[in-house]
Amino acid sequence: MAIHEKSLIEPERLLSEEKLVVDGVDVSGSWNTMITPRYLRDYDDDFEEVIQKYGGGENVHRCWQCGSCTNSCTMYAQNVQFNPRYWIYLTRLGLKDEIVKDKDIIWQCVSCNRCTNICPKDVRPEGVMKALAHWMEDQGITEKTPSSHFDETFWEEIYHTGRIEDASVMMNFFKKTNQPLMQEWLVEFGKRMMKYLPVAQMMKMGLNFVAKPKTKSWGRTGEVLKAYVQEQKEAAHG
Ligand code: SF4
Ligand code: SF4
Repeated sequence: MAIHEKSLIEPERLLSEEKLVVDGVDVSGSWNTMITPRYLRDYDDDFEEVIQKYGGGENVHRCWQCGSCTNSCTMYAQNVQFNPRYWIYLTRLGLKDEIVKDKDIIWQCVSCNRCTNICPKDVRPEGVMKALAHWMEDQGITEKTPSSHFDETFWEEIYHTGRIEDASVMMNFFKKTNQPLMQEWLVEFGKRMMKYLPVAQMMKMGLNFVAKPKTKSWGRTGEVLKAYVQEQKEAAHG
């Protein structure tokens, strides 16, 4: 049978001969291309379990490969290389190296959750995408993504004050991701706020941004929260 989907096979595994005779039979023409067999030795038996310990990856074992997640995926519509079903399949087989080949696109999941809503097995593919991206960050395979920076900034604010000051989170996020503090959309946003928000409210927001007030009796509670989060991380990843 002729090989129609050569693009799906690694080029080094394709052997082509202009003239090919096998056991005395001339098989030149459309039979002249062979694929070298591939034996998998690079799988990790425990990989599925590792991903299950990351937030969002808990249900990866439920997948029955129906493909609904990929069919409904916002990113797949833009780029057919972005394929949640395929990465879930590789996760279940423990083929880490194959997943790492796609490290530059896995993090592009936009968390629209269309896949999660359609999945008949409650795998929560969006969570698996996040779990894989976090695993790669932890392994030093990829840099921290903007969403990881945002998570960190958000939690730092809570640890420190027990509350969220939106402006402060945004500024710290911009700093961490080397973005300019003054952006066109932000200036426009500020102008509209000044137009529609009561002056007293604006002053209160400005004061909170500068003074960073803490939730009443924060301190000990913050320490307990930090310790709890650390305990959970250690329980999950050792
Ligand atoms: S929709 Fe769910 S069950 Fe189907 S392939 Fe995707 S993750 Fe697996
Ligand atoms: S949440 Fe991510 S993986 Fe799921 S459909 Fe949206 S972009 Fe695709």
